[in-house]
Amino acid sequence: MSKQKKVNYNNSCLTPIYQNAAYFFENTEQAIQYHKNEVKLSRYGRYDNPNWIEVENQIAALDNYEEALLFPSGMNAIVTTISTFAQQNDRLVYTGKCYRNIKKFFDLVLPKWGIRTKAINPSNSKAITEIYRDNPKIVFVEMPSNPHLYLIDLARIKSEISPDTLLIVDSTLSTPYNFQPQKFGADLTIHSCSKYMGGHGDILAGSVAGSQNLIGEIRNYRNIMGGICDPHCAFLLKRSLDTLPIRMKHFNEAGMKIAQYLQNHPQVKKVFYTGLESHPHYAIAQKYLTGHGGVITFEIDGNLATTSQFVEALQVPFMGTNFGSNQAMVEQCGVFTYYHLSAKDRKEREISDSLVRLSIGYEDSNLIIDDLAQAFRAISDWDKSP
Ligand SMILES: *Cc1c(COP(=O)(O)O)cnc(C)c1O
Repeated sequence: MSKQKKVNYNNSCLTPIYQNAAYFFENTEQAIQYHKNEVKLSRYGRYDNPNWIEVENQIAALDNYEEALLFPSGMNAIVTTISTFAQQNDRLVYTGKCYRNIKKFFDLVLPKWGIRTKAINPSNSKAITEIYRDNPKIVFVEMPSNPHLYLIDLARIKSEISPDTLLIVDSTLSTPYNFQPQKFGADLTIHSCSKYMGGHGDILAGSVAGSQNLIGEIRNYRNIMGGICDPHCAFLLKRSLDTLPIRMKHFNEAGMKIAQYLQNHPQVKKVFYTGLESHPHYAIAQKYLTGHGGVITFEIDGNLATTSQFVEALQVPFMGTNFGSNQAMVEQCGVFTYYHLSAKDRKEREISDSLVRLSIGYEDSNLIIDDLAQAFRAISDWDKSP
């Protein structure tokens, strides 16, 4: 087939999906101008794509940094970012109560590359002081943490680490709407866009935002390692980011209402929600968060079997492990995400038998509250049955 004339019909309100691998140049002169950075053109689909660039600009603005990059998943954003900056014999310190695959990457993969990693407990201020003694290359903070929504005094860490230490924050559980790590000294902010940012349970993607310099280095690694976002996925993420504020407003309002309902319920032992004074990091939350989202973790007054019964009695949420989408989801943490951990590890991570993580969707909060109420009734009837 010969070179065909391109039709330029582009007054669509939405950026069309550029589902292409290659970009052409008009002539040799233009190609040379491209190499000298004198014209803004693309060359190949692993380096850039108009759909990504649109979303990357939007995320940079949301996170309040100069630039951002998209990745095919949150994990890939983390792996590419850490690989860019960590080298043999470096030390990395991270908040240990974090997303399980982040922990696996730090505990199982990085040591193979000669990088020493150490988990710290965000609730233990002595452990935090230890960070500085190790003089790590990277401090990685997941905040709020999964599933207990633990927080850490980020500004304090920033003020005490060496200026050469990179402070990286995964704030997937808050989104830029509820938390701005950049304002408290984070050098890079990462999101799994598969959760609230995507918001519809239909994509996997990740992002990292930071200064032009740092993002430039990560971009070089992405070009090499090839962790890129599919253009259709970027298109869907753009649609989602346009509605992020209105969606987060719903999650914050409904989440608070449901957390309060659970806190007042006699069959609930403990609620982990940063909007409640009972959360161990409520004071930190007041400083860092402007909202508390739609993930509510709680312990019911019951054993392993009663808790399973409770989760199975729920009619509204799917049983599964996601959050921040239109589908409400629920999991009994110990037999779901943390099933393969030893009893000792589960205890260390505070995953008790009766721990439940509820992630609400866009339904009316009363629908969830009524559902929780009937599930509590079901287990109390069950307890009474012979
Ligand atoms: C889900 C999640 C990730 C991983 O993101 P994927 O898009 O699933 O790869 C990382 N960090 C946190 C806090 C998460 O919840």
